[in-house]
Parts: sequence; C-alpha cells; structure tokens
Amino acid sequence: MVHLSFARYASIGFLGLGNMGKHMATNLIAANHQVKIFDVNPQALDHFKDQKEAKVVSVPQNAIEGSEFIVLMLPNGKVVRDVCQSNVFPVAKNGTCIIDCSTIDVRTSQEMAEVAHSKNVGFVDAPVSGGITGAQKGTLTFMVGAQADDFKKVEPILSKMGKNIVHAGPNGSGLIAKICNNLLLGISMIGTSEAMNLGIKLGLDKEVLAKLINSSTGQCWSSQTYNPCPGIVPTVPSSNDYNGGFASEMMIKDLLLALDAAKEVQASTPLTEKATDVYRKICSSGLSKRDFSVVFKYLNEQ
Ligand code: NAD
Repeated sequence: MVHLSFARYASIGFLGLGNMGKHMATNLIAANHQVKIFDVNPQALDHFKDQKEAKVVSVPQNAIEGSEFIVLMLPNGKVVRDVCQSNVFPVAKNGTCIIDCSTIDVRTSQEMAEVAHSKNVGFVDAPVSGGITGAQKGTLTFMVGAQADDFKKVEPILSKMGKNIVHAGPNGSGLIAKICNNLLLGISMIGTSEAMNLGIKLGLDKEVLAKLINSSTGQCWSSQTYNPCPGIVPTVPSSNDYNGGFASEMMIKDLLLALDAAKEVQASTPLTEKATDVYRKICSSGLSKRDFSVVFKYLNEQ
C-alpha cells in the first residue's frame, strides 16, 4: 500500500516528456517533488540531462512503483489506454492517483477511470490549455474531470504546473471542455491566418495589421498571443519556422475528437468540418509536424 501523505513534496511518476510534458515535469521538480520520468523516446529525455534532481527511469514500471501520483502527458487515447492497461494498472497500488493531462476522447478516459476506481486507484482527466509557453511558465489552465475527493488530492500538484485549476465536473468533464476549446482554437487560427494573409497581400504592413486587429473586435488568442504571421510575436513557433509548439497533426486529432463527440449528440459543426479539411491539406503537404499556426504559411503559398 502506498503511503499517502499528499504532502507538499509528493512522489510522482511522469510518463510522456514531449513538447509539453518536459516543461510540466520540470516545474514539478522545481517545486521539490520527487519525480521519476519515463518516455519511450530517449531523445525526449535529453532535456533533463543537466537537471540533477530528475530521476530518469528506463522502464515505465519504475516510474509508477511507489508513486503517489502518476501524471500522463501522452499523444492520444490509444496510447493512454495501452499505458494504463499494460504499465499503470498492474503496478499502481491502492490510493495512487492517476492524472491524465493528455487530450483524448471522453469515452476512453471514462473507461480508464472506471477500471482505476475498481482498483481503489484515483483517476482524473486534466487536459490543459496554454500551449508550450504556458507549460514552460507554469501558467497552464487545467480543465479537470474528477470525483470531488480526487480533485482535492490533485489540485496542489496541478497548481505547480498551472495557474487556473478548474473542476469542470465528474470524470470526462475536463475533456469535454478541452475538446470544445480546441475546436474554437483550430477555427480561430485559420480565421486569423486568412485575415493576416489577405491584409498583407493587399499591401498593409503586417505589424500595423496585427496591432489594429488586436485592439479591435477580431482580437483573439491566435492573433494576440500566438500570431501565425512570422515576426509579430518573436517567441512563438511562427517566428521559428513553425517548429515546436502544437503539431498540425495533433490539431486534426482534436478536431476529430470534437466531430466524433458532436456526432454522438447530433450537434451541428459545419466550421469544424471545414477546419479539419484545411488541416488535412496542410498535413498532406508535408507540414504535419509543424505547429498548427503553419496554416498562415500554407495559405500564403497557395
Ligand atoms: P509530444 O508528441 O511532443 O509528446 C508526447 C510524448 O509521449 C512523446 O515524447 C512520446 O515519445 C511519448 N510517448 C509516446 N508513447 C509513450 C509511452 N507508451 N510511454 C511513455 N511515453 C510515450 O506531444 P505534446 O505536444 O507534448 O502533447 C501531449 C498531449 O498534450 C497531447 O495529447 C496533446 O494533444 C496535448 N496538448 C498539447 C499542447 C501543445 O501545445 N503541444 C497543448 C495542449 C494539449
């Protein structure tokens, strides 16, 4: 039986140290938690080479054994299911709590929560918003689907990685919120790119256009914080040839999650369908690994 102190310095197993996970784990380590990290891709662990406090393990079981919390930051629902079934459930002890921060379908998450609860293991879906910058700065928004007692346990851990920790409702609720948010993000990024591309082609200076949009009614996160036109915001992927960030193929994944969910409840989503087509074309033009703001470059080169 894991000794559950839920103390300030909890022991945490962290699986999935990609674009987001590496920064989130770094923030947990900086907050003095004992963090054991595992990733199937050894290159993902390079980030921790100079972090003495990071305990890199070579098999996932070593990250899970004895940990009070298991954080998952994995690419999709299939991987989360495989990792839960093959790695986490056989090893996690009574009272451990799994915090799945990946963006996956609601049904897989609820099924994993049910299995976990039947083993007296906690499970929360805690997908995030805020991108890589938010992960780096520890300012993510966590949308949490959880039983009330699990939410109480995970809140202090999540607060080391984010600044808005919202209990959205029972298991699955965090993912419902996340899927709806990303549907909007996918569409707004295309809208921002279309507007920037058109204005520039009509002869307006890109900085002037961005400034005017950002003080007018078209302003949104995609225009203000993450502008897709290179050179407007120097620290975001568009200013780094669209490297890093949130891959276009990941955006398709999220839009398909929204479309599947919409089908279940017969909600109308015409723009989500159109946006999915646009990102599909971007991916088949060889840009699938580039940040989703690459839609600007794609439109610009049409
Ligand atoms: P990523 O592909 O960079 O990272 C995923 C990591 O999981 C990789 O390092 C991969 O090697 C690892 N992995 C795969 N299978 C594994 C396994 N069986 N065991 C351990 N590790 C395994 O993806 P990311 O951009 O960090 O996104 C992770 C999740 O967060 C996704 O679900 C994504 O939709 C979501 N998300 C991403 C962003 C973003 O801006 N990148 C923002 C919000 C949410």
